[in-house]
Amino acid sequence: ESSLRSLLDWYARVGVDMPEIPPSRPVRRARPKAASKSVPTSSIPKPAAKTPEFTAADPAPIAAGCKTLAELKAAIEAFDAGALSDSARQAVFARGNPAANLMVIGEAPGRDEDQAAQPFVGRSGQLLDRMLGAIGLGEDDIYISNVCFWRPPNNRKPDASEVELCRPFILRHIELAQPKVLVLAGGTSMQALTGVSGIMKNRGQWQTVSIGDSALPALPLYHPAFLLRQPALKAEAWQDLLTLRERLADLS
Ligand code: URA
Repeated sequence: ESSLRSLLDWYARVGVDMPEIPPSRPVRRARPKAASKSVPTSSIPKPAAKTPEFTAADPAPIAAGCKTLAELKAAIEAFDAGALSDSARQAVFARGNPAANLMVIGEAPGRDEDQAAQPFVGRSGQLLDRMLGAIGLGEDDIYISNVCFWRPPNNRKPDASEVELCRPFILRHIELAQPKVLVLAGGTSMQALTGVSGIMKNRGQWQTVSIGDSALPALPLYHPAFLLRQPALKAEAWQDLLTLRERLADLS
């Protein structure tokens, strides 16, 4: 089952539209379910009591009310994102230096990140660290997060509604961290924050992320998980890293 799931995950990451696969094992807590059809009808009160469909709270006012990164982290950890947070062990907020000039925004936590409560700590995170290290950036020079704060079931890509739910939090995250430059790791992050789609043709091309009155330069890069599967593209990724290095050098 796990090799099939990783194959499907791979298809999803390279942009093939994949059906949603039900989670095999909810970890955090179970949501209340509507009365099951298998319950004997004699036990169902009349008129039948209905469990309302779960609707998440509006994240926008919650995010706006957070005045510090610590408050935002606590608000996200306390937020009930329905099936998304139910199937994750915990929320994954950020790692690195919140005062860094560079903020890297990936897609969503995977299994390793879900366990460690830290973004990009698995194989793709190690590659990300090596890529940034190759242009002289260490843990102190970067701040790393994701557009989605919970691991989607089966490591699939977050869907559009999940990204929408997380968007006020990630925008507030950027606002509070105040980076000078963003790296958008992968197509999901690029699309979520710029509306631009097509990582193959837009990677390495500066974009703008507008938040309130400010406009931040943002460089889309191939997602490191994609590079692990397509090592031949590392030459292009290296060119993009040089573009990033030049921009960061202009800041100092
Ligand atoms: N991939 C991501 O996009 N983010 C992580 O945190 C880990 C893997």
